[in-house]
Amino acid sequence: MQWFDYAAPRTLEEALALMAGHPGARPLAGGTDLLVQMRSGRKTTDFVVDVKRVPELNEIAFDPATGLTLGAAAPCYRIYGDSSLLRAYPSLAEVAALIGGTQIQGRASIGGNLCNAAPSADSIPLLIALGARCRIAGPAGRREMAVEDFCTAPGQTVLAPGELLVSIHIPAPPPNSGARYIRFIPRNEMDIAVAGAGVHVVVDNGNIRSARIALAAVAPTPLFVREAGQLLAGRPANAQSLAEAAELARQAAHPITDMRGTAEYRRHLCGVLTRRALQAAIQSAREAR
Ligand SMILES: Cc1cc2nc3c(=O)[nH]c(=O)nc-3n(C[C@H](O)[C@H](O)[C@H](O)COP(=O)(O)OP(=O)(O)OC[C@H]3O[C@@H](n4cnc5c(N)ncnc54)[C@H](O)[C@@H]3O)c2cc1C
Repeated sequence: MQWFDYAAPRTLEEALALMAGHPGARPLAGGTDLLVQMRSGRKTTDFVVDVKRVPELNEIAFDPATGLTLGAAAPCYRIYGDSSLLRAYPSLAEVAALIGGTQIQGRASIGGNLCNAAPSADSIPLLIALGARCRIAGPAGRREMAVEDFCTAPGQTVLAPGELLVSIHIPAPPPNSGARYIRFIPRNEMDIAVAGAGVHVVVDNGNIRSARIALAAVAPTPLFVREAGQLLAGRPANAQSLAEAAELARQAAHPITDMRGTAEYRRHLCGVLTRRALQAAIQSAREAR
């Protein structure tokens, strides 16, 4: 491990000033990606800004009318440990409990998962499906954008030097809605997704009013398959509609072949996982009535 200086600011202003004053500084939320990558030499820095103590980055605030503000550094265990979030966003709680194991979840954050920008990151397809937005602060002020526009390449994001992801905002769950993320991994736990599908649906009298679908590990960035969701809008929530949307997801995927699976296998998984995630989300929407 290389030597680095470390600072743990207590306010956002202090954190931004430290980032601005140390070009090349890297923020640390939980460190479960960053420290592993620094140890292996994949990432280097001589200055780490630990944002875990900045209140705005640790906030978890849910309002049934306006939605959830999830501080970028809030650890996963606080998400599935919060009964109001378990009720309002069961799929998010499920993803928080899926990342790593108990020890990882004590540190790892959804914000860190997003900023690490791995194509296989488990939370990102669900965030996209839920219509989440990134709230960013930096030397030029504050800005906001949809999660689907945040990752630009493997390990790369839109964040400019000195910028921090402050929080993620997830809209309030509409009535009769459901969401689900399903991944395929060769083992039962603690593995990297070979493929994953995150979906969100609103169901109205047996018809799908709206849907959003995103995929993991089958493109250089998490992949929003807008057209698959659009195809479902206004269609009956039946096997035929789901099969057509799953086929669009399969076609949208452009995975690589690596030691975890061939491109063709991953494409096939996209269809299967999308269909199963839609079935589960529709079931949740019906039970939510
Ligand atoms: C054993 C193990 C198992 C794992 N299992 C999974 C898994 O099942 N699924 C999965 O998706 N991932 C998994 N991971 C990867 C990792 O745990 C997750 O990606 C986690 O969510 C990262 O969060 P973190 O808070 O630890 O991020 P960190 O490591 O602190 O940060 C990740 C990256 O984001 C940057 N960053 C952090 N916060 C900010 C911010 N506020 N603004 C700008 N940049 C920021 C950092 O500089 C770094 O580059 C696993 C890791 C380990 C070690």
